[in-house]
Amino acid sequence: MEQLKQQIREHGVVLSEQVLKVDAFLNHQIDPVLMQRIGAEFARRFRDQGIDKVVTIEVSGIAPALMTALALGVPLVFARKQQSLTLTGPLLSAQVYSFTKQVQSTIAVAASHLKAGERVLIVDDFLAHGQAARGLADIVEQAGARVVGIGIVIEKSFQPGRGELERLGYRVESLARVASLEGGEVRFID
Ligand code: 5GP
Repeated sequence: MEQLKQQIREHGVVLSEQVLKVDAFLNHQIDPVLMQRIGAEFARRFRDQGIDKVVTIEVSGIAPALMTALALGVPLVFARKQQSLTLTGPLLSAQVYSFTKQVQSTIAVAASHLKAGERVLIVDDFLAHGQAARGLADIVEQAGARVVGIGIVIEKSFQPGRGELERLGYRVESLARVASLEGGEVRFID
């Protein structure tokens, strides 16, 4: 997606050879027009999959996932990382190791928001080692629902996430594929 790559070139900050900061338009300040286009693009790629629900993880997955859900005309469910007084009733949960925070945490969704047989699209902001997406897929499958695709805004293709997810049989669609962050420069695959 050329407009996304342009934003990454202009506003992305390479923090290390492993980590890209995009706080100017995705992870802190959010560009609503870009999010709308991202949502439309995911919807275009997955529309034929009969999606019932979009699932993401708080916080940074919510903006692109919400616009995708809007474009597909389906609800969005986001997994919580923090326990909350309002998160009551039976929960579906998974353990996720956070790449950026370097801590293991439990993510959870109220069981009432996912139903057996539903066709689910997972959306997230970044793909690194695939831990977040795997945790979300685990939760979806605990509910008896089916993951029909994984939509990623920025994939770091030099890390093993895509390979792991494909090995598990998931279809992964990424809007920008970063080949390397070496030398402080973002290089894309295509
Ligand atoms: P994974 O679970 O695939 O290892 O990492 C994906 C998660 O970690 C995403 O939900 C994202 O929030 C965060 N993440 C991974 N790599 C980066 C990165 O280079 N930059 C930012 N801003 N977040 C990242």
